This record gives sequence, C-alpha cells and structure tokens, in this order.
Amino acid sequence: MLVYNTQTHKKEELVPIEPGKIRMYVCGPTVYDQIHIGNARTFLAFDVIRRYLMYKGYQVTFAQNLTDVDDKIINRANETGRTAAEVAEECSNAFIEQMHRFGVLDPDIRPRATHEIEAMQEMIVRLIDAGHAYPVPSGDVYFSVRSDTSYGILSGRDLDQMRAGERVGVNDEKRDPFDFALWKAAKPGEPSWPSPWGDGRPGWHTECCAMIHRYLGTPIDIHGGGADLVFPHHENETAQAMCAWDTALANTWMHTGMLRVDGEKMSKSLGNFYTLKEVLDKYPAGAVRLLMLQTHYRAPLDFSFERLEGVAGTLERLQTCARNLRWAAERSPQDGELNDADRALGRAIDAAREEFCGQMDDDFNTAGGLAAIFSLVTACNTYLAEAADDTSTAVCLRAADMLGELAAVMGIELSRSAGDDDLPVALVDLAREHAGYEGDSASDAADALLAARQEARAAKNWGVADAIRDGITVLGLVVEDTAAGARLHRKE
Ligand SMILES: [Zn+2]
Repeated sequence: MLVYNTQTHKKEELVPIEPGKIRMYVCGPTVYDQIHIGNARTFLAFDVIRRYLMYKGYQVTFAQNLTDVDDKIINRANETGRTAAEVAEECSNAFIEQMHRFGVLDPDIRPRATHEIEAMQEMIVRLIDAGHAYPVPSGDVYFSVRSDTSYGILSGRDLDQMRAGERVGVNDEKRDPFDFALWKAAKPGEPSWPSPWGDGRPGWHTECCAMIHRYLGTPIDIHGGGADLVFPHHENETAQAMCAWDTALANTWMHTGMLRVDGEKMSKSLGNFYTLKEVLDKYPAGAVRLLMLQTHYRAPLDFSFERLEGVAGTLERLQTCARNLRWAAERSPQDGELNDADRALGRAIDAAREEFCGQMDDDFNTAGGLAAIFSLVTACNTYLAEAADDTSTAVCLRAADMLGELAAVMGIELSRSAGDDDLPVALVDLAREHAGYEGDSASDAADALLAARQEARAAKNWGVADAIRDGITVLGLVVEDTAAGARLHRKE
C-alpha cells in the first residue's frame, strides 16, 4: 500500500512499525465553536483512511485530542460571560455530536489537554534538562529551535532563510524569533496550573506531542492533520519529540488539502463560511461524504451547494440499487443453475472489489474507489433491468453485500433490507380503504395498493388512482417502477 509522506514528498510503501498494527494520531479541534466544513473534510479523510486500514486487516489504534485550553477559548469565555471550562465542555460535546452525525468513528483514545498537564510538564522538564528549552523571567518556557539541528525537517524550511524573510518579533525574552512557547505564564483570570516555572498553561504544540508519547508511544505510524498544520504546529511537534526522546514523532506524515467554497477561500468576511452542523441540517451525511470523497484528500476540495444537490441524487442511486437487489432476491424463485447474466454480474462484483482496493492502495484514492463502487451499481442496474423477474437470489445478495461492504469503507451505510421492513403500518389502513385489503402486513398492503392503483389507472378511474397516490405521498413513500414491477419505498 502506497502512502504519500509530507516529510519525504513522495509515496512510500506503508510498513507498520509492529506488523499488522497501525498507530495513528490526528490533531483534534480547539473547542471554542462549532467546527467548519474545512475541519470536517480533514476528519472525514482520516476516518476513511482508518476504515480502509481496518478493512485491510490492520489493528488500528486511533488517538485524537481535544484542545480544551487556548486563547480562543478564553476569549470566547470572556465575550460570553462564561468560564473557559464551560465553553470547552459545551463545544467538545457539540463536536462529538456532529462527528457522530457525520458518521466519523470515535477515536480509541480521546485525551483532553487539561487532563494531561503532568505529561506535558514532564516533557518540558526533559527538554530543559537537555538544553533544548529555557524558562524566562516572565514565567514562560520556550523551545530553542537553534538547539535542534534537524529543525525544519518536516516542512523543508530553513531557519536562516525564514529569519531573513520575517520581521523579528517584539518578544525580547526569546533567543530566536522562531522559538515557541512550551509553557505560558498565566495572566490574571486565565485557567492555570502550578508548575516549576510558576502558574501557567501548556502551549498548543506541546499538547499533541506529550499525548502521543503517553498514549501511543513514539514514533507512531501515521500522524495527520490539515495542510495548514505542517508549519509551525507539526514541525514543532516533531522537534520536541526529537529533542525529548531522540525519536521521530511519526514515520508517515499525512496532510489534507484545503477546502474552498464556490472556488474561493472560505471566510466569514466573504459570507461563504459554513459549519458542519449547518450543512448536515440540510443534507444527508452520506451525500456530504460522497461530495468530499470525490476529491483526493491531498487536493484542494471545491465545495458548493450546487454540487451537493447533484451528489444527493448519486447517493440515492446507490441506496436504491442496494434495496432493489435485496428486493429482487426476495422475489426470485428458488435458484436453479446460474445463467450467463448471473455469472457476468458475479465477475463484475469481484472486479469492483479488486478495482476498489487497487485505487485505495494508491494513497487512498477515494475518487477511484467511488468510481469502482458506481461501476458495480451500473452493472447491477443493467442486470436487474435485463433479468427482470429471472434474477438469481444468491447473486443479487452477493452484489448487495459487496455494495454495502465497499460503501461502509467510505462510511456510508446502506440499508440491509429490501425497504419493505420499514414500511409504515398506516399502509394497512390505506389498503383496507382503497384496495379491499384484509390482512395486517405493511408489505402485503403495499403490494395490494400498487395493484389497485395499476387497475384504477387502466380503468381510467382517476379518482381512486389519485387517492392512492396522495395517501402514499402523505406517508413519506414513493413509487418506483422497476423492471420486475412497481414498488414502494421510503423517500430518502
Ligand atoms: Zn497537534
């Protein structure tokens, strides 16, 4: 399996540190607000990467932090008259809720910065003792970038060139303008913890590094985040690991591309800024996933509501195909010999899986993976149309299972039923009224209603046909005409 490594600028064979196991970490959000769809893209990308690694049989341990102490949280607390802890708690819960709605799997380990102060202080002590960090009179502690000969290794930056290009900051306590705070002295009213350097709180870069070391051990296999984190956040993380424990932080660094809205950078000032919650309130999670996964995770992603509208139909096509396969399987007579069409679909199923894995093995090419899924959808639809009521139960079920299996890697859940299971019982009353139905099965009532509607239309008895159609619509159902006959299912 080939994975692009930001540090080496090339695709490399993924070789786990421990055979069969992958330890990965993705920087979590700073919890001061609802996350936006740019963040969501990153979390989605790593969710699918994790799912695919699991699909390939790796035992994956996935950790993601919550940055619950930060200037932004403190500012938000001051603006709204709450404590920083209240803001962080509320936004952490909101984040977790939106990730669940989006279908992102929970991390195995979700450390919170404020619970890890001890591990961070231990690391800072090590760095000071080794001459890589220094406390200053104000109570801050800085990492000395000059002390780390490999500084710049991840982002490919050169300190001398950077200094020439930057205006030197005003902080004259720092020995170098690129030295960064490992520990920040507390200002009045800020959350703080006691430390050997006075009351204060940890710096952001310190957090992830100490938590990775504590929970996963260094180095880990994969460290991920948005491309905007390469410098300085990840550069600083890896510098601390090198200097504290003499080990790289991660073997492979993976970064997601930026998200643009209608071709422009998303920003509040341009009025094109959207939270994940706003988007999920209007569109199914599966459609948002499909849209985002149509672009490779490293490439810039063009988001637009117009594209999302189109993709919602694509998702429906996938769901309908899986349902129709299961429906056909239920209707098929007992299987006899497989015929040519059955065997051709069997080959298409195997080919789709092979193509899917080939694409995903190439640096998680989700666009190619989706194309493989939809080529199977096309093959299935052709088969269902041509075979009409002479389908093979076994082949239909295999096809539906394969669609479900591959879609699940993308985090899209397909119904395992033909759709009849979840028909509303109110159909029974409707069928009693308009179709002379006397049983109490919703599924049979649906068949009776469709037959009565067909009969009424043939007899040009429009009053009855319309009444049935209206009754069906009110129940949130749609009639779908398939080669094997009309059927009812819930409108997605
Ligand atoms: Zn981080």
